[in-house]
Amino acid sequence: MKIFVYIDHFKGEVQPASWEALGLAKTFGTVTAIVLGSDANDVAKAAFEFGADEVLHADDSALLDYRAETYASTLSALASSHNPNLILFPTTARTRELAAMSAVDLNTGVLTDVTGLEANGDSFIATRPIYEGKLLEKTVCSGKPVMVTIRGRAFPKPNRDASKSGSVTKAAAKTDALSEVKGYSASESAVNLGDAGIIVSGGRGVSNNPSLTPPAGMDEKQAEIWRAQQGFALVTDLAKTLGGAVGASRAAVDGGYISYSHQVGQTGKVVSPDLYIACGVSGAIQHLVGMRNSKVIVAINKDADAPIFKVARYGVVGDLFQIVPALTEAMKKKLGK
Ligand SMILES: Cc1cc2nc3c(=O)[nH]c(=O)nc-3n(C[C@H](O)[C@H](O)[C@H](O)COP(=O)(O)OP(=O)(O)OC[C@H]3O[C@@H](n4cnc5c(N)ncnc54)[C@H](O)[C@@H]3O)c2cc1C
Repeated sequence: MKIFVYIDHFKGEVQPASWEALGLAKTFGTVTAIVLGSDANDVAKAAFEFGADEVLHADDSALLDYRAETYASTLSALASSHNPNLILFPTTARTRELAAMSAVDLNTGVLTDVTGLEANGDSFIATRPIYEGKLLEKTVCSGKPVMVTIRGRAFPKPNRDASKSGSVTKAAAKTDALSEVKGYSASESAVNLGDAGIIVSGGRGVSNNPSLTPPAGMDEKQAEIWRAQQGFALVTDLAKTLGGAVGASRAAVDGGYISYSHQVGQTGKVVSPDLYIACGVSGAIQHLVGMRNSKVIVAINKDADAPIFKVARYGVVGDLFQIVPALTEAMKKKLGK
């Protein structure tokens, strides 16, 4: 069976789930990594190190910036000439668009955000969460190629082996496009929750420390935000100690405590880290859908009946303003920091 894996990267920085897709592809057959862009020689080399049997690299200045028209038509042309059974992508904002546009060119369908995939003769059975993760849907897809975007961290990442190499095959780029990228500006608060192995999240509870006296002259809302910032400083300290990222509930975001890029849940990010520590988060269903696939969940909440405890493997009932700093200190000692 012949599998294409699209290696999604921005200026040579690879979206890690691309390698997870490559590892999954290896379980089905011969893997061709598809690398697009004129700044991606290292990406092409890394694809061999992660186990690709072949690397097709469309190295053209027209592909320096991701544009749906050039990328989709280049990928579709490669798929038409090589005829793979399956094309795997990591699920990202870019690949949702790219996979959909290529699928139209190739007259096939796309299964997005897949968390399980099995071969079944010439077809594939994909598992993906639906109804906000309450049900897992199994879908058989028999088009050719089957196109699948996989959820980040749902499949194991293969080990990188620097001794593996190969010669990269140059591929032709399709360069017609109506759009042109004029530039990029970095978002100040960009956070990569999707790839984080550890997330420490804060909810509305981080603002609830009446013993903290805000600076004079603040109105009630300003005092609430100031208190919440003290709470989030503790959450951030724990996250940094553990080498993790900071998440938040929507109540914390709506309250103005922290920016939206940290929000986990139905209208935020869906995450599945190895460890998720929820501090002062009640566990509303809209939050749970974003984090309940985490491997280990720890909840710190002063209400023993909070729904977050139903999904937590470890629960601490108490005041986060006492527990979080104590936990950070203990972890610093344990990790020698
Ligand atoms: C359409 C829709 C989409 C939504 N999308 C999202 C989403 O993407 N993400 C999301 O999170 N929510 C989302 N929500 C909102 C969701 O319903 C909840 O309102 C929200 O998750 C509550 O956030 P919270 O747990 O921080 O706050 P609360 O529910 O107010 O809980 C605060 C918790 O902190 C605890 N606490 C208070 N003080 C302390 C303390 N000192 N120490 C320890 N614990 C303390 C309390 O016991 C309580 O359990 C959505 C809602 C709707 C209707």
